[in-house]
Amino acid sequence: MTQGTAQVLAGPPAAAALLDEARRRAARLPRPPHLALVRVGEDPASVSYVRGKAKKASEVGLSSHVHALPGDTTQADLLALIGTLNAEPAVSGILVQLPLPAHLDPEPVLLAVNPAKDVDGLHPANTGALWNAHEGLRPCTPAGIMALLAHHGVTVRGARVVVVGRSALVGRPVAGLLLNADATVTLAHRVTPDLGAVTRGADILIVAAGQPHLITPDMVRPGATVVDVGINRVPTEDGKGRLTGDVHPDVAHVAGALTPVPGGVGPMTVAQLLMNTVIAAERQHVQPEVT
Ligand code: NDP
Repeated sequence: MTQGTAQVLAGPPAAAALLDEARRRAARLPRPPHLALVRVGEDPASVSYVRGKAKKASEVGLSSHVHALPGDTTQADLLALIGTLNAEPAVSGILVQLPLPAHLDPEPVLLAVNPAKDVDGLHPANTGALWNAHEGLRPCTPAGIMALLAHHGVTVRGARVVVVGRSALVGRPVAGLLLNADATVTLAHRVTPDLGAVTRGADILIVAAGQPHLITPDMVRPGATVVDVGINRVPTEDGKGRLTGDVHPDVAHVAGALTPVPGGVGPMTVAQLLMNTVIAAERQHVQPEVT
């Protein structure tokens, strides 16, 4: 990577601070918050992600259980498990690891999760609450980006923010959170004409496009804060491949601050999942009827 001058907005210290807060708040509850992790089949990436989430949960004093269902599980059996977990008062949060095997439709499964236990924050009740600035559980990567910016002292209020990408997972919800935090927000996508002219207007540029090095130095306003959400595996000569973001490394010469890939937004996502589990448990403790 080219040596740059931008401040590095590192994820690990921001994630550690979020995990510390989750640990402190979990310890104040009468029983440890419990995260139910639902996985179907043996996709190696899913097995590894779920194992990592369970390990991190125990590190911050949360209990968790991995419900590992066989690859040929039916839609009805999966929905029945979600129903059981919804009804179980000891379960604070439910996470269904995606992608599901091809024969299962994720939509009804995500809709079946009780919004009060939807620690992924992707149920329409929670996305609707986000857009109306009402209380709800926020999607992990977008909320993690907000925590990362706050940790590093980046002021969102009043800033002109451009988000590149409009997915339900990242672009749309992070735009909603930024709006709720009093930023002036522009959402750009594949059909946006002259993307560079739009991104150059940003005090804070958030890129979640999944396109390696889409953002080049000429597309960034000098001194801007740039958050690179992209995680792309690109081929290398040794055949192993390496991870790179959506932002060209030379942007570090222009930007005032920049998140690295890896080691930027990535660590925030799991930390926010555990924070969401604690938030869900706190609300269920105060309002047990919602569980
Ligand atoms: P999606 O593929 O669902 O969405 C990509 C978005 O980017 C779309 O809205 C698309 O526009 C837009 N886009 C793609 N190419 C261009 C382009 N050339 N110009 C302008 N806009 C473009 O991806 P996700 O939102 O799920 O993920 C985005 C990236 O973030 C990926 O690299 C993913 O791996 C990473 N990611 C990282 C996470 C983390 O923890 N760090 C978590 C989640 C995702 P259109 O709608 O017009 O097609």
